[in-house]
Amino acid sequence: MKLKILHLYPKEMNLYGDHGNVLTLVKRCEWRGIKTEVIAHEPGDPIPDDIDIIFGGGGQDSNQNAIEDDLRAIGPQLKTMVDAGTPTLVVCGLYQLFGEYFQTAEGEKIKGISILDLHTVAGPNRLIGNVVVSTPEYGEIVGYENHSGLTELGEGVSPFGTVIKGYGNNGKDMIEGAKYKNCIGTYLHGPVLPKNPRLADFLITKAIERQTKSRPKLERLNDTVENRAHKVATTRPQ
Ligand code: GLN
Repeated sequence: MKLKILHLYPKEMNLYGDHGNVLTLVKRCEWRGIKTEVIAHEPGDPIPDDIDIIFGGGGQDSNQNAIEDDLRAIGPQLKTMVDAGTPTLVVCGLYQLFGEYFQTAEGEKIKGISILDLHTVAGPNRLIGNVVVSTPEYGEIVGYENHSGLTELGEGVSPFGTVIKGYGNNGKDMIEGAKYKNCIGTYLHGPVLPKNPRLADFLITKAIERQTKSRPKLERLNDTVENRAHKVATTRPQ
C-alpha cells in the first residue's frame, strides 16, 4: 500500500510551518509501515488522478494572487476529487481559495474554486493568536491564526468546530473552519497536525479506507509528546 499525498504550492503557500502537516502525515504512515509519496504541485504541473490525500497551506495575499490562475485551472480536477471523498486539509490562504473568493483589504477579488460554500472579505484588523477549537468529530484542536480575511459559511458546508479561544472564521460567530465531505478547511497554522494527531489519523484512515474499500484499524502510536505539545498549546495566552 502506498498513499499519494498532493501538496499544493509548497513554495508559495507555506506559513507558520504548514509544511509540517505533510511531514506529520508521512511520519505517521511510516511509523505504521505505510509507504507514502508526496507530489509537490507547482503552477503548470499536471495533477495525477490517483491522489489519496490533498493538502494546501496558507499564504500572504500576494502569494494567493500568484497561484490564482493555476488554482483555477486545476480547480475542476480538485473538485472532482473532493466530491468523490478524497481526504483534504486546506489551511488559511488555500482554505479561503477553496471557497468562492477572497476580497483583499484593497478591494481586489481573488477568485476561488468553489469547492467549499463560503466567501471571505478582509476586515480592518488582522486576527492573530493562539486558538483552541472544540470539534464534534476530532475533539479539541489547537493551533495559531493570523489572517485579515473574515469568512462566512454558506449552507453547503458545516463548521469544523466552535471557537473556545481565539477568533476563528470571523471573530463574531464563534465558528472555526468548514467541513464538506472529507475536506476540512481551517485557519489553524502551527502547523496544526503535529499537535492534533487525531486529525492527522482521520485523513490517513479515510485515505486507506478509500483505497482498500474497507475500514482500516490504524495501529496506535505512542503520542505522549504530541499530546503534551497539545496540552501546552491550550495553556498559552491568546
Ligand atoms: N492572506 C490571507 C489573509 O490575510 C491568508 C493569510 C494566511 O494564509 N495566513 O486573510
